[in-house]
Amino acid sequence: MKLDATDLRYVTSEEFRVLTSVEMGSKNHEVVPSTLIAQVSGLRNGGVNKILGTLAKRNLVAKVQNSKYEGYRLTYGGYDYLALRALSKRDSMYSVGNQIGVGKESDIHIVADTEGHEMVLKLHRLGRVSFRAIKEKRDYMGKRKSASWMYMSRLAAQKEWAFLKVLHEHQFPVPQPIDQARHCILMEFIDAYPLRQIDQVPSPGKLYSQLMDLITRFAHAGLIHGDFNEFNILIRRSNGEPVVIDFPQMVSTSHQNAEWYFNRDVECIRTFFRRRFRYESIIYPRFKSTISEGGKDDFRLDVVVEASGFGRQEMKVLEQVCGSSIHLY
Ligand code: ADP
Ligand code: MG
Repeated sequence: MKLDATDLRYVTSEEFRVLTSVEMGSKNHEVVPSTLIAQVSGLRNGGVNKILGTLAKRNLVAKVQNSKYEGYRLTYGGYDYLALRALSKRDSMYSVGNQIGVGKESDIHIVADTEGHEMVLKLHRLGRVSFRAIKEKRDYMGKRKSASWMYMSRLAAQKEWAFLKVLHEHQFPVPQPIDQARHCILMEFIDAYPLRQIDQVPSPGKLYSQLMDLITRFAHAGLIHGDFNEFNILIRRSNGEPVVIDFPQMVSTSHQNAEWYFNRDVECIRTFFRRRFRYESIIYPRFKSTISEGGKDDFRLDVVVEASGFGRQEMKVLEQVCGSSIHLY
């Protein structure tokens, strides 16, 4: 989908009011009745309908004729719009450039601030593939009856943001976090190639140890990346140093399947180095000894993240919906 930041500046305050009313109504309705939108926005009925028509033409909302009533739902475009507008209102970003990645559950764009500094915008797209699963698992949502892709994508972004922040604060090699709004996170652009695209390195052994040391460092801080592979490791163009990205699936070393996740991360690196660089080492970290030796630091980042507001309850919701891929405890 195309993001258009210039469009952001051409929305009247009434249109914005109607759009946010649709978003608010979505908390309790899959299809927000037009009458409710009018009520929430506090605008005249006729006026609201006209504005809804304009918003629908721009694909920010979609009209749905329900068997019982006529209404609207917020589209991905509308939700993107609201997030981008929030970020640009705060002066975190100004313009949107190329899309550089389409993941299964995210879109990645290059964006810039008013001075032209490039950053990366990651839009979480949970539910693009698993909306049905989300609906089926609605029991897990507790009081929240209409769990939606919007809510799940926002949770994923909040989780990734929480991890990015603590990891960066503790000097892990991750992009600098810049801002977060709704389902989006804004972070430093790393001028790098994904390890996946690299055929040769000056010293595979050195890179291998750096990556294994990182897995160990994570574990000493109570964390397992959970998706530590050649797609989520970037190699800086300037100096060949690795940078780790993509955190929505991080798990705590206290998770009941921690050892399995840990071994999978280690195995991904070993396999990749064997195949790509014909490099194999008998040295690699083992879960039990890594955990028992502890680190030189005495912080537990899994605990820090939980204290930051992204707690177990939120983790659980994400975990239930996303199957085995997203856990903390
Ligand atoms: P997904 O969850 O879809 O895998 P990622 O966070 O792994 O999303 O990002 C997908 C791709 O986008 C990465 O493989 C990388 O090429 C690029 N990318 C993501 N974040 C950055 C960044 N901060 N700097 C540069 N490239 C990035
Ligand atoms: Mg990734």
